[in-house]
Amino acid sequence: MSKMKTLQDLLEHQLKDLYSAETQILDALPKMIDKASNSSLKKAFESHMEETKGQKQRLEQACKVLDIDPDGEKCKAIAGIISEAADFMKENAEPEVMDAGLIAQGQRVEHYEIAGYGTALHYAKKVGAQEVADLLAETLEQEKDADEKLNDLAIEKINDKAMA
Ligand code: ZN
Ligand code: FE
Ligand code: FE
Ligand code: FE
Repeated sequence: MSKMKTLQDLLEHQLKDLYSAETQILDALPKMIDKASNSSLKKAFESHMEETKGQKQRLEQACKVLDIDPDGEKCKAIAGIISEAADFMKENAEPEVMDAGLIAQGQRVEHYEIAGYGTALHYAKKVGAQEVADLLAETLEQEKDADEKLNDLAIEKINDKAMA
């Protein structure tokens, strides 16, 4: 690994980390879609999976602009969150309780992404990589919306159903 000298180097590192995260998330989402019983929750995961494909492409585009390879880093944090979700999905739980738990796991993913994209966006602006910043800002909004959508589903109905 070459020495990281500047904020630009750190930005590149962060983009690779996010690229690894999105790749792993894309892999994990079909299992969460399968496991969800509530149709609104299923739909929320499905539509976020479609968005996630676009997010991966945006990172590829950002890396192209910076002339770097998006591969080469493994996001261990997302690997951990996903492995926790996989363990949880093996639990013997009522469907309503499973749904509430899937939201809990999903929001952990979104919060990690919000932190990652927020930081990378800030770096991109700082180093004057406006095109990269625009790409990151678009994804950051989607991650925030996805988190809010999950939050609304939990508060409006799914947590209540899990109490019964
Ligand atoms: Zn790292
Ligand atoms: Fe994402
Ligand atoms: Fe990471
Ligand atoms: Fe996301």
